[in-house]
Amino acid sequence: MVSSPLGKSRKLNITKKHGDGYKLANNPELLSVSGINASLDAKAAACIGHLALLGTIDSTNSFVKRFSEEHGQTQIVALAERQTAGRGRHGRKWLSSFAGGINLSILWEFEMGASFLEGMSLAAGVAVRRALTQMGVPGVQLKWPNDLFLSEKKVGGILLEVLGDPSGPCSVIVGVGINHCISDAVGDNIDQPFTDILSEVPGYVSRNALCAALISQLIELLDSYESTGFIDYRDEWQKYDITLGKKCTIQTGKKSITGMAMGIDSNGAIILRTEDGQEIRFAGGNLSLRLAQ
Ligand code: ATP
Repeated sequence: MVSSPLGKSRKLNITKKHGDGYKLANNPELLSVSGINASLDAKAAACIGHLALLGTIDSTNSFVKRFSEEHGQTQIVALAERQTAGRGRHGRKWLSSFAGGINLSILWEFEMGASFLEGMSLAAGVAVRRALTQMGVPGVQLKWPNDLFLSEKKVGGILLEVLGDPSGPCSVIVGVGINHCISDAVGDNIDQPFTDILSEVPGYVSRNALCAALISQLIELLDSYESTGFIDYRDEWQKYDITLGKKCTIQTGKKSITGMAMGIDSNGAIILRTEDGQEIRFAGGNLSLRLAQ
């Protein structure tokens, strides 16, 4: 093992495989319909209108959007071995290596308007955390609004996009990127501390089973969100909030505000208490929250 400047333990092209020795990272577990179906929750499976397993694609979020426009299909799930133009928020990039992670997007149609979907990005974080925990990946933490952390390093992210009429029926795309066993070549281009699942857990975590767990948990969320809303997810989100009670800085355009992170409100806005005792809520927009140095 060698350490990168970003603090990640780098693998020397071998990854541990539970029970049967070692598995070469250049012979990874590829995604398969049978592998995913074997662990997919039956209720979730029954809700899926179309499941696409892709090799290399620009972005799974873009794929489900195009597929929906071209085929008039909704409730679409797409997984890709690799994205060439994976996206983060506000034009930032999500990088991935072939079969080195999970690139998952689900397009879901809702009857109610987009305002009702407030907090869904955070709720999706809870669903992803549940899936990872179920798969034997403990200790996942959440960072407002859409990041997943393991050992204080970024292991995944969520990108939520809303299509259609903000006041009427609309579709939501939930995109999830998770590092499973990221290549050094890709890792070298990530400009913040990051990690991957196989560096953090002692046993092997199956990519196919993890995809099934993620799809099952996310569909449960999407299928019930119109009746539950964010409030059902708030306490669980807050329990795993990596910034709670810590000094943080929020970057809002050119301005930055520092204060103690006080958790989130019932709509998912983050609350910061500044030194003069003011509590400020931040929601949506191009905001970036960081632990203060
Ligand atoms: P914020 O905290 O505001 O969400 P962010 O920098 O985490 O800010 P995102 O849009 O959530 O921004 O995610 C994109 C960022 O994630 C990239 O700019 C890069 O820093 C980082 N990143 C890109 N690919 C990966 C990856 N595979 N693993 C971990 N981090 C990545």
